[in-house]
Amino acid sequence: MTADRYWPGDDETKPAPPPLRRIQALVNTVERPDGADRLADPADARPWLVANELLAPSSELTAADLETVTRTRESLRALLVNNGGGPPPAPDTLAPLRQIAAAAAVRTSIGRDGAVAVTVDGDDVTSRLAGLLLAVRDAQRDGSWSLLKACGNDECRWAFYDASRNHGGLWCDMATCGNKLKNREFRARRRAGTTVRTGATPAQRPAHPSR
Ligand SMILES: [Zn+2]
Repeated sequence: MTADRYWPGDDETKPAPPPLRRIQALVNTVERPDGADRLADPADARPWLVANELLAPSSELTAADLETVTRTRESLRALLVNNGGGPPPAPDTLAPLRQIAAAAAVRTSIGRDGAVAVTVDGDDVTSRLAGLLLAVRDAQRDGSWSLLKACGNDECRWAFYDASRNHGGLWCDMATCGNKLKNREFRARRRAGTTVRTGATPAQRPAHPSR
């Protein structure tokens, strides 16, 4: 990772627990809708991918690899939109994940205590991405998957982990996206001439310094 460059995904205000943290980090390699993309330039992407164990330190990064990673990123984002209460992903959106799943050589092994482990054979980018799918699967079983969500602001879609007590979090950050969306809805309703009830919004986390 380039040490001289701050990246908001390196310091999440709503970080996922470790097995899902890598998925959150991948989804948050771009600041939508028109911000920086950590994976746009191969020279910038390479150290990030190595640091996040999606590329072996000794491997070349091909254009095809990078495209696979960015397509996977958006496929995962679509799942997180659904986790956040948005529409289910369109079948085409899942194609990158299906390709990775189909290409993966999954191996099971038995530990000394009899515990069954599932791992992915192979060290290439696709195999490493398939390793992320194993983390998704584990999280889907233990229930933590549904708490990794994409921000409800369709211009943002930043991935956040909803650690709120009622698991009803909708925004990457209430101070930025939450209030922005509420204000937009407020103005829309006012334009439409409907009565607006103002509900006090409890101040939550402070705005992310760069977002
Ligand atoms: Zn947001």
